[in-house]
Amino acid sequence: QKDLFGEIVPAASGPARHVIRVVFNQALMGTFDYGVPDELWPVSAGGRIRAPFGRGNKPTEGFCVEVLEDVQKPAERGYRLKFITDVIDDKSLFTKRMLELGIWISDYYFAPPGQTLAAMIPAAVKKGAGVAKIAVIYLLCLPNQVESILSEELKRAKKQQVVFRHLVDSGAFSADKGIEKSELKKATGCSDSVIKSLRTQGIIGMEAASVLKSLPVIPDNYALKTSKKIQLNRHQKSALEYLENELTEARFGVSLLHGVTDSGKTEVYIRAIDKAVQLGKQAIILLPEIALTSQTIQRFSERFEKIAVLHSGLTASQRNSEWQRIVNDEADVIIGARSAVFAPAQRLGLIVVDEEHEASYKQDMVPRYHGRDVAIKRCQLENAHCLLGSATPSLESIYNARYRKHYKLLELPERVMELPMPAMECVDMSSGEDAFSDEILSRRLRDAIRVALHNGEQVILLLNRRGYSAFVFCPDCKEAIRCKNCDVTLTYHKRGGERAGSGILSSYKAGGYAICHHCGSRTLVPVACPLCGKKLVLKGAGSQKLEEELKNKFSGAKVARIDSDSMESADYYQMLDAFSRGDIDILAGTQMLAKGLHFPNVTLVGVLNSDAALAIPDFRSGERTFQLLSQVAGRTGRGEKPGKVIIQTVKPKQTVIQLAMQGDYEGFVNREFEIRRQLALPPFTRMAIARLSDKSFQLLETEAERLFELLGDISFRLGLKITISKPVPSIIPRLHSVYRMDIRLVGGSGEDMRKLLRNAIYEKTYKQKVKIIYDIDPISM
Ligand code: ADP
Ligand code: ZN
Repeated sequence: QKDLFGEIVPAASGPARHVIRVVFNQALMGTFDYGVPDELWPVSAGGRIRAPFGRGNKPTEGFCVEVLEDVQKPAERGYRLKFITDVIDDKSLFTKRMLELGIWISDYYFAPPGQTLAAMIPAAVKKGAGVAKIAVIYLLCLPNQVESILSEELKRAKKQQVVFRHLVDSGAFSADKGIEKSELKKATGCSDSVIKSLRTQGIIGMEAASVLKSLPVIPDNYALKTSKKIQLNRHQKSALEYLENELTEARFGVSLLHGVTDSGKTEVYIRAIDKAVQLGKQAIILLPEIALTSQTIQRFSERFEKIAVLHSGLTASQRNSEWQRIVNDEADVIIGARSAVFAPAQRLGLIVVDEEHEASYKQDMVPRYHGRDVAIKRCQLENAHCLLGSATPSLESIYNARYRKHYKLLELPERVMELPMPAMECVDMSSGEDAFSDEILSRRLRDAIRVALHNGEQVILLLNRRGYSAFVFCPDCKEAIRCKNCDVTLTYHKRGGERAGSGILSSYKAGGYAICHHCGSRTLVPVACPLCGKKLVLKGAGSQKLEEELKNKFSGAKVARIDSDSMESADYYQMLDAFSRGDIDILAGTQMLAKGLHFPNVTLVGVLNSDAALAIPDFRSGERTFQLLSQVAGRTGRGEKPGKVIIQTVKPKQTVIQLAMQGDYEGFVNREFEIRRQLALPPFTRMAIARLSDKSFQLLETEAERLFELLGDISFRLGLKITISKPVPSIIPRLHSVYRMDIRLVGGSGEDMRKLLRNAIYEKTYKQKVKIIYDIDPISM
């Protein structure tokens, strides 16, 4: 029924019989109640619907989050209920607990609930990627009529007999046992007209069905191997014992497995997962995206039969079909990157978060969740165990394990097989020959590369900067070219080294341009400084230049570069596979290379600008650098031959670099804890950032001041112990032509922080005039 304005109104007889609570995939914190017309009932919580919404009542997609029991009369409700117009999913996309998890994320991270739920389901699943419509053919007769049909109706139709017999032999006596039309044609060699004539005689029927077609993700040759049974060492044994007991008790708990690379952590994961599977449970293993190469997947495939894989190297239809396999309970073990924490497993017993300290577990879009923390929450909701693993646990996790005793600490202090830790060596780039040369590679590192290549070994080189050179710089004005949209310097890129499809500067002779790594804008590089007319110079090397140098200096070697310019996600899986096969000698790239990869033939790792990370004005820069250098060390010496790490730095005396060289995690943690405690920083406190942005700097400043005052008032009113710092420009003060300011909040408890922000969001007297995002537990400033 529609009213005068085309709005759908409930039947005149009174209250709607069914009312649901809906959230829309928009930046809105609220929920909305709608009636469900009888013909669309039932609707399940967690499924998508369409309902008139907003100005003009546009049909808008939303999720039903709750079916309301209590149906009020319109008079009691005080407003007229609108009705939904469509049900998109007949089945819920979420299990009950996942819906609960989604609501928790929305609440904890201040993310709009509709956007949060939408982010939990891969786009490929929502679109139904890879689902094809097929025609299914089946018999309309009963088995006891077969003979008479053959001897009468089909007596003289030889071709029709063949098709008919094939259907009879396949037992296709009903639609659900039917045969796909194209298969039937292939099997019998019949034409469409034969099928048509059988249909017109009423002997066979045809029905449409949808099937999900896709290539298998796990290749057939990854067969299950009853691998030579590895004898766990005593540390592994005691860790496993603890985990097995927790899994058997089926209770919620978190443990932190701390062990250097090659201490046998993955072996412990595998055994714990094995136990979970034996108990009839499922396990999810989260890995940083880059580590999801075929070698990792192969290692798990050799130990478990029913594996599903979710990562960005899959095609859309593969992603959908892997997801559907989990929905249909066909997988015991699920391996994936951050978002696999949302895999629709229904018998979850264990989540493993490998390399739990990795910054890539934090999502930098709405909802800004941390994969590790969501994994822990999910385990709590499902009475499952959460196992975090790392060689260099985050300060947060080690604090939770050691000081607060929230996590059980499990330690693997030795490398298995008594592999020695690789030799770490520092090259001081601030003095001697290297300081005065233009070379990116120190003499020491060049010699070491030569030796490794000579011995047929492989080399990994890390340079944490994309592009060709860091700045285009005027030596006289001391100014670098900056982006017109963002407050950052531009990076010089050579043509041909960037993503395909950007050859817009083909007429430019100098062959390069300056690109903004934040908004992607590109400009021609002027030859002379626009201010003084002096010739501009390129400063600071990027991965492109490194690649060029390597190709010049080591002409016999096969060199490849990995960074986000050189490839799309699907390619880097291939590149890493090529490297593990030995088809590449030197792999150069940005820090994505440092993560959890296992290449036994790598004997040398070089870090070219180890100081860059330390220079970032973020209180975690020391932690990042320590982790990076330790991770890098773990990339070498994993085979029979000993490994070597060469670190180029201009500050060889830096404590963090020294501690990393000695592999002294304890020393690092103790020092860092002391600093954080004194400065009242996480993990001793909780942090949140309110980031305001607007095109007008003036408005932004006024609004930041206004929000700052509001937060102060609320904090005072509620008696919260939260330090609210005055608004300051963000680390990148302008991005995409939009100015940004941060208000940093530091407090003793997460609960106080949420109270403050919740009150600010719903404050009636405050009207928000600029965009504000909240980043809870931010991991970068
Ligand atoms: P991590 O995950 O800590 O880097 P892994 O579990 O990958 O360590 O172990 C490194 C290598 O040692 C793997 O090849 C693994 O099969 C092997 N390994 C693990 N535990 C043992 C053990 N107790 N005895 C012998 N080999 C082991
Ligand atoms: Zn820019």
